[in-house]
Amino acid sequence: MNRFAQTLREQSISLRRGRAEILQVNVGKLCNLTCVHCHVNAGPKRKEIMTRETVDRIIDWLANTEIPTVDLTGGAPEMIPDFRYFIERVRDLEPLRHVIDRCNLTILVEDGYKDLAGFLADEKVEIIASMPCYSAVCHRRRMSLRPITNGSCKSISKLCSTGFTRLRIFRSAGSPLTCATTIGSMSTCNF
Ligand code: SF4
Repeated sequence: MNRFAQTLREQSISLRRGRAEILQVNVGKLCNLTCVHCHVNAGPKRKEIMTRETVDRIIDWLANTEIPTVDLTGGAPEMIPDFRYFIERVRDLEPLRHVIDRCNLTILVEDGYKDLAGFLADEKVEIIASMPCYSAVCHRRRMSLRPITNGSCKSISKLCSTGFTRLRIFRSAGSPLTCATTIGSMSTCNF
């Protein structure tokens, strides 16, 4: 018996496989940002993106399951050519599936993506996002973060004006509530 199994036995814990709740799909390494902390080394020059053929294979597989949530991540998942196609196909499935977009927010105000907020709202997609530290002290120390924070705030404002309510925002070392307090004055969004 290995140590893991032994510890479970000592703690009287039995592990059983549960029902799959979420299918998380990494659609590629293409991203509009190049964060130093990125664990997949994503960036604008990365070529690894999911093809439509692979998207179709995933949908075919998913259709034979009852997994209720599809969670799209990257890179910036919005940048693959078939991002909207992927979501539309998932949303067409029976039973209905919930879709999460792991969004860096700044992509929503980039040229070529400015109508994406409306699409995501129409498809009832939930956005999960994070922001860099927003404090003035932090910005003075790390000036390069300012355009990213500004872009993120513009995107949040845009999402709120689109009627978007499925939005969860985190910051690197804080709680979503802290961040929501800060941006609360920007909009009437229901965080
Ligand atoms: S936004 Fe996310 S995916 Fe893109 S470079 Fe930064 S950490 Fe990586």
